[in-house]
Amino acid sequence: MSRIVLYYTFIPLSDPEAVRLWQHTLCRELGLRGRILISPQGINGTVGGEIKAVKQYVKQTRAYAPFADMAFKWSEGAAEDFPRLSVKVRPELVAFGVPEEIEVDERGVVGGGEHLQPQQVHDLVEHKRSQGVEVAFFDGRNAMEAQIGRFKNAVVPETETTRDFIAELDSGKYDHLKDQPVVTYCTGGIRCEVLSALMRRRGFEEVYQIDGGIVRYGETFGDQGLWEGELYVFDSRMNTRFSEQAKTLGECVCCSAPTSTFYNCMDRGCSTLKLYCEEHRHIPETTRCENCQARLEQDPDDPNAGALGKVRRA
Ligand SMILES: [Zn+2]
Ligand SMILES: [Zn+2]
Repeated sequence: MSRIVLYYTFIPLSDPEAVRLWQHTLCRELGLRGRILISPQGINGTVGGEIKAVKQYVKQTRAYAPFADMAFKWSEGAAEDFPRLSVKVRPELVAFGVPEEIEVDERGVVGGGEHLQPQQVHDLVEHKRSQGVEVAFFDGRNAMEAQIGRFKNAVVPETETTRDFIAELDSGKYDHLKDQPVVTYCTGGIRCEVLSALMRRRGFEEVYQIDGGIVRYGETFGDQGLWEGELYVFDSRMNTRFSEQAKTLGECVCCSAPTSTFYNCMDRGCSTLKLYCEEHRHIPETTRCENCQARLEQDPDDPNAGALGKVRRA
């Protein structure tokens, strides 16, 4: 029997490299695989393996005082779901590109948005509405993920990577939200711990974040609440739904047919993902992204082109 655990905590770590060595050794000894990021701001990991080994991992990790109160979320899965064990030190736990802006203390990120439980999200929306004020939902993920699912009427920033958020926030595009209640959300909550603090620093006055992110919200309300569509996930499934009632919001880039399935650009080494219907995903010419198409027109003999006509689900 195997399982995965997911966890993060924002807490000051004075010697991230020592934590990295310890965590790497611990995982190797227990036969775990996965991905762990360590920074002066804390730790974020997903590891999988035999249940007994994972339990041992949790116990030993919690034995280190800064991690004693960290929550571990258990999930189906195994070591084989990960290509290898990767334990790295980075300046930031979430790569917004502004480590100097984020202050972390014993209680977490300083100046972040108020945490809301799923029911409190609904309470807030109703309470504000009774005062004639609409709550804005602000998507803290990469824009692509919102193509298949998002909170109803959510604001979706134009972001390809996490680093794009700073330019988006500083562009003035969202300044009309600065005196409105804003609920930030992301997959599991970790990004919004930082994003909500970055927004408050920039003058967004009333910022909230959903504790546990879309995942926790979906466990509570499924498709019966304010969420709409499917959830993009970072494993081989790519997308998941909370119930059979989930709407299909995504559209094939060729024909606009409804779909929730992302496929990789057909060229080797390109990781661009786009939505395709069953029919168009089998046509190689349509599953090459614009960048690769342009490159191919420059160099028709490009050995990466086509990658043997492989059209794979990433
Ligand atoms: Zn199509
Ligand atoms: Zn491409």
